[in-house]
Amino acid sequence: MDFLHTGPFSFPVQDTYHHKNQWTKRWAAFRRWIGPGWRKRNVQEVNQGSSELQLGVSGDVTEAGSSQELKIYIPFESAELCVTQIAEDMKAMKKRHLQTVQELEENFHITAREAQEWTMQKVRSHYQNKLNTLRTFLDLYQDTMEKKKADWEKKVAELTAQNKQLLEEQSAERRRWKEETLQWQKEKSKMLDLFSSRLDVLHCHQASTLQELQMARQEIGQVQEILTVSSSQEQQEAAEEEEGSDNKEQTVACSVSDQPLEGANARLEGVKESLYQKEREISELLEAERSPIPPVPQPHCSVLLPTVITKAHEICSAVAESRALLNQMIEDNQVALAEARDKLHLHLQSTKDESNDKEKTPNQEGSDESSLSFLQETLREHEVCQIALDCIKSGESPVMNDYEMSEMEDILRQETLPTTQRSVKGVGQQLLLLQAQLKREKEERKKIIENYTSERAMRKKYYNMVEEMKGKIRVFCRIRPVNRSEATQGGAIVVDKLDDYSITVEAPRGPREFQFDKVFSARASQEELFQDVNRLMQSVIDGYNVCIFAYGQTGSGKTFTMVGDKDQKNPGIMPRSFNAIFDIMRENSSKFDFKVSAYMLELYNDRLQDLFVSQAGEAHSQTQSHGPTKRVEIKRNRKGVVFAQGAETKEASSAQELYALFQQACANRHISATRMNVESSRSHLIVGIMVESRNLTNGSVNTGKLSLVDLAGSERAAKTGAKDHQLKEANSINKSLSALGDVISALCAELPHVPYRNSKLTQVMQDSLGGNAKTLMIVNISPSEYNIDETLTSLIYATRVKAITNNAQRNVDSKEIAQLKEVIMKLKSGQTVEEMDV
Ligand code: ADP
Ligand code: MG
Repeated sequence: MDFLHTGPFSFPVQDTYHHKNQWTKRWAAFRRWIGPGWRKRNVQEVNQGSSELQLGVSGDVTEAGSSQELKIYIPFESAELCVTQIAEDMKAMKKRHLQTVQELEENFHITAREAQEWTMQKVRSHYQNKLNTLRTFLDLYQDTMEKKKADWEKKVAELTAQNKQLLEEQSAERRRWKEETLQWQKEKSKMLDLFSSRLDVLHCHQASTLQELQMARQEIGQVQEILTVSSSQEQQEAAEEEEGSDNKEQTVACSVSDQPLEGANARLEGVKESLYQKEREISELLEAERSPIPPVPQPHCSVLLPTVITKAHEICSAVAESRALLNQMIEDNQVALAEARDKLHLHLQSTKDESNDKEKTPNQEGSDESSLSFLQETLREHEVCQIALDCIKSGESPVMNDYEMSEMEDILRQETLPTTQRSVKGVGQQLLLLQAQLKREKEERKKIIENYTSERAMRKKYYNMVEEMKGKIRVFCRIRPVNRSEATQGGAIVVDKLDDYSITVEAPRGPREFQFDKVFSARASQEELFQDVNRLMQSVIDGYNVCIFAYGQTGSGKTFTMVGDKDQKNPGIMPRSFNAIFDIMRENSSKFDFKVSAYMLELYNDRLQDLFVSQAGEAHSQTQSHGPTKRVEIKRNRKGVVFAQGAETKEASSAQELYALFQQACANRHISATRMNVESSRSHLIVGIMVESRNLTNGSVNTGKLSLVDLAGSERAAKTGAKDHQLKEANSINKSLSALGDVISALCAELPHVPYRNSKLTQVMQDSLGGNAKTLMIVNISPSEYNIDETLTSLIYATRVKAITNNAQRNVDSKEIAQLKEVIMKLKSGQTVEEMDV
C-alpha cells in the first residue's frame, strides 16, 4: 500500500480515499497521533478561554475507554493546521492523482496507438495476401486467356484454311459440273447422231426392201405368164381328149383341170395385193421419217406367206389331183434330197481321201470347189423345197431360226437361182426372206423407238437435275380428273401427259408442249405425288428454308393437293409433311434434339390474319379492350428468311398435335362457294413450320423452315358467278396474284428491282422466289376444253417460274452463337441474367 507523508501525518492513499469511511479512519489516525497528552493540553487551552472547537464525535471517544460522554476540543490552530494539512494533502493527492491519470492516459494513448499500428499491420498483411492471391489468379487467367486466344487463332486459321479448301473444292466441283455438262451435251449429240445413223440404216433397209419387192413383183409377172402359157396348153390337151370321151366325163375333166388354175390365179392376185400393200406401207414409213413415230401397224406382208401357204393347202385339200401331185412332188423331192445328200457326202469323202493321198493341181482344185458348191446348192434347194412342200401339206407357216434366215439371205444375195426355173419356189423363198427381214426391221425400229424414248426421258431427267443443282425453282404439274360439271358439259379432254416430264395441250392454234420437273396424270395418287415431295422434308431438318406452293385456277385441285379432300381420306402434302417431319425426327432422335413450332396465317382481302386467333375471339377481345388487335407483319431476318412478326407461334411435340393445330387454324379460314367450286378457298393459306435441331455431339443448331402455301384460285368473275363481297375477295385475290406475276416477270428478266412490296403475298413469298429457299411449285390444271384458256395461262406462268434461280442455304449456328441467341431471346422475354441458367 502506498502512503502519503505530509508533515507529521502519514495516511494510506487509496483510490477509495474520498469515501466517507476513509475520513473516519483518518480521523482515528489523527487522534492517535495527538495521543492522551493532546487531550489535556486541549482541555487546558479550552479552560484558558481560547477559542475552542468542539467536535461532535461520540463513538470514538466512547470506544477510548470512557463510558461517559466525552467532548474533545481541538485548538483551532491545530484544527486549522490539520485541515490545511488535509487540504494540502488533498491537493497533493489530487495533483498526484491527476499525474497518475495523465500517465494512465498517456499509457493508454501509447497502447492504443500500438494496438492500432498492430491492427493496421495485420490488415495490411491480410490485404497484401489477398492481393497476392488475386495477382496469382490474374496471372493464371491471363495465361488461360492467352492459351485460349492462341487456340482461337489456331482455330480461325484452320477454319480459314478449311474455308479456302472448300472454296477451291467448290470451284473444282463447278468446273467438274461444267465438264460433266459438256460431256453430257457431247453424249447427247452422240446419241442423236447414233439415232440419226440408225434412222439412215432403217431408211436403207426400207429402200432395199422396196427394191426386192419390185423384183418379186417382176417374178410374179413372169410366173403369171408361165401359168397362162401352161393353162392354154392344158386347154388344148383337153380339147384333144374331148374327141374320145362322152359329154359327162368331158365336163368333169374340164372342171377338174380349171380348178388349180383358178386357185393359182387367185393366189397370185392375193400375193400381188399383199405386195402392193407392203410397198405402200414402206413408202409411208419413208415419208414418216421426220414426223413423230406412230404406233407400229401390223404389215400385211407379214401375213403374206402364211396366206400363200394356207391357200395352197386349201387347193391341195380341195383338189385330189393337186394333192396327189403334191405328194408326188414331196416323194420326188425327198428322193432328190437323199441323193443330193449322198452325193455331197461322197464328194466330201473323196476330196478328203484325195487330199490325204496326193497334192492337187490348181485346175483340179477349182473344179472340186465348183462341184462342191453346186452340190451344196442343190441340197439347199431340195431342203427349202421340202420345207415349202411340207408346209403346204400341213397348212402351217414355217418358223425360221436365225441361222436359216442368214443362209436364206446369202442364197438370195448370190442370185444363183434362175427365177424362171424355180418360179414358185423362188417366190416362196423370197417371201420368207422378206418376212424375216421385215420382222428384223420391225424389231430394230421398236428398239430404236425404245432407245429414243428412254434417251429422251433420261435427257429430261438429267436436264432437270442440272437445273435443280443450279438452284432453279422446281415445278410439278398435276392434271386433275374431269369433274362432274365438265362431264355434263361434255367438253373434250385437251390435256395429255406425254411422259413423266412433258404434257401437250390441244390449244386453239395447234398443240403446245410444256416441260416440267415431273408431270402427274389424273390417275396419280396423293401418295405418288408426296413420294417426289418427301425429299424436301429432309432438307427442312437439315436447316434449309423450303417452300411448297400450289398454283392454278379455282377448282383445279390446289387445296386437294396441299390439304387433301374434305374428310381426309386422301390427305394432301400438308398433313403428310407433318408425319414425314416427325418420322425423320424419330429416326434421328439419338443424334439431335428437336423442337417444332408453327404459325398459320391467312391472307384475306390483303390483310394477314393469324389463324391461331379465331375471328370471333378477336372481335370479342377488341370490344373488351377497345384497342387494336395484334397486327401480323412480314419481316425478314439478317439471313433474308421471312418471318411473321406478331403471329402466334405454337410448339408441337407430335404429328398429331401439329395436325390438331392445323385443323384449329383451318376452322378459322374464310371459305365461300362459287360456281366453279363448291367450297372455294377465298384466301391464301400460309403454314410455317420451324424445325430447330440441336446436334448433341457438337452443339450446333440448324433452323429449318417449311412454308406450305395454298394459294387462292385465279379466276374470272363472270365464270365463277361471284357477287358483292365475293367480287371484292376475287379482286383482292387477282391483285395479289398479278403482283406475284410481276415478281416472277422481274426475276425472269433479272431486273435490278423486284416489286416484292406490292402485295403481302409477294412479301410472304420473298425468300421462296429468288431468295434462299428450296422452292417447289405445283401447277394444278383442269384437263377439260372448257378451261383451256386458264390452263394455258397457268402453264405459261409455271414455265416462267421454272426459269427463276434461288440460292438455297442452310441456317446453321455454332454452339456459341446458338447460346448467345438463346440468352438474347430470354432477355427480350424479360428474364434477368440471374434467372437464367447461363
Ligand atoms: P382449288 O383449291 O384449286 O380451288 P380444290 O382442291 O378445292 O380446288 O378441288 C376442287 C375439287 O376437285 C374438289 O372437290 C377436289 O376433291 C377435286 N379434285 C381436285 N383434284 C383432284 C384429284 N387429283 N383427284 C380427285 N379429286 C380432285
Ligand atoms: Mg382451294
